[in-house]
Amino acid sequence: MDFFLINTLTGEKERIYAADGKALRFYACGPTVYGPAHIGNFRTFILQDVFRRTAEALGVPTFHVRNYTDVDDKTIRGARAAGQSLKAFTDHWRERFEADCLALNLLTPHVTPSAVENIPEQIDMIAQLVEKDLAYQAADETVYYRVEGFADYGKLSGLDRSQTVVNADGRLNSNDEYTKESVADFALWKAWKEEDGENRWDSPWGPGRPGWHIECSAMARKFLGDSFDLHSGGVDLIFPHHENEIAQSEGCTGEQMVRHWFHVAHLQIDGGKMSKSLGNLYTLDDVRERGFTPEELRYVLISGHYRQPLSFSWESLGAARAALKRLRAARELLGEADGAADATGFGDFEPALRALADDLNTPKAIGEIFSVVKKLEPGALEVSDATRHGFAVSMRALGLELAAPPESALDEAPENVKLLAQSRWEAKQARDFNTADQLRDELLGLGWRVKDAKDGFELSPK
Ligand code: AMP
Ligand code: ZN
Repeated sequence: MDFFLINTLTGEKERIYAADGKALRFYACGPTVYGPAHIGNFRTFILQDVFRRTAEALGVPTFHVRNYTDVDDKTIRGARAAGQSLKAFTDHWRERFEADCLALNLLTPHVTPSAVENIPEQIDMIAQLVEKDLAYQAADETVYYRVEGFADYGKLSGLDRSQTVVNADGRLNSNDEYTKESVADFALWKAWKEEDGENRWDSPWGPGRPGWHIECSAMARKFLGDSFDLHSGGVDLIFPHHENEIAQSEGCTGEQMVRHWFHVAHLQIDGGKMSKSLGNLYTLDDVRERGFTPEELRYVLISGHYRQPLSFSWESLGAARAALKRLRAARELLGEADGAADATGFGDFEPALRALADDLNTPKAIGEIFSVVKKLEPGALEVSDATRHGFAVSMRALGLELAAPPESALDEAPENVKLLAQSRWEAKQARDFNTADQLRDELLGLGWRVKDAKDGFELSPK
């Protein structure tokens, strides 16, 4: 079965393959390690994981690189505010990220380079750009990329160049930017400033530190070569980050940096952006605190198509619990897939894998899985080896282990379920039986049965 995915660069659905015939070389922009990753970040990392798992399930081995952004404005500011060295500070958040990834069942990338450990490679690339006249040191000592010099600038984001290169005379109103030749030019090497403290590295242009964009270009080149198969991130990275990566890498090597670009749309909350200031930015720990498991979060995050924004709600986690329970029951009925490993084809689960192979359509795949699962009844069906194999492969591609959640998570109703049950009880007290019945059904839909008790209610898993 061939695997197709939309390429942001061309807008076309294109076949996924390894150009070297061995392994698909795949770079994912990693986290900036200055705080815990939020569940939106994890939408992107989990979809990248499902991409990799699907490629591998369909016979395309991968070589996966995901960096750590451990030197930039945010990490330096964070370390200084915490009174820690940059290394101690970013190590802490890196460990936290790795623990979250493990809990969410993300496959570990083959290489996880750190930006700070690859500064010589970045300096080398900047030097080549200066040599080619694609970079210059400005009066503020910072080295900038000369966007004007790269004819393909804007090809990924569909940017109109005439809109970006506005100040041909090199003057801008903003004081801190006016040493640049053009407003579109971006920093490759940032000259050391007081607020950077001890975080300075020597370079041919004086002490300073690399810009964020050059980090990815240099690390991708080091581990994947001048030209590789696929590059990914959230949609917010298309411009300017990925556009700038292309300008740096292709300006430097003269080769096409990446053939296929894969971008994940954002996770939203209450129909809008998640942000710290709105207080609606959640981490995996927040999810656990409300009584849900990492696998339930994973299920929610794969339940929407990667090219559509996905709206997060606590109710969706309750529904995920019920869905995972049905999948565990299905696995029991199907029996272990071990003996079926040699089966050819995916039996009744073939449509689910076809959906994944067609632009990584996870919601359609899940729908196809449930249309088979619905028909499974104890003893009623002669299950073929191919079907058992197909179920195991589908779960592996989606990264669902179907581990039984801890007893406490099963018995203890999550917060939203308790709130609904409370509202039902209040509706009953007010003799509003219609509402009470509606809420009872809603709870059943979330996998919980509610019973009246002496002075309130009792909840039990359905
Ligand atoms: P950062 O740590 O900010 O560099 O982001 C890590 C990854 O998460 C990048 O690929 C971002 O594009 C992605 N990302 C950031 N916010 C969201 C969101 N709300 N939904 C999905 N992905 C996101
Ligand atoms: Zn990047």
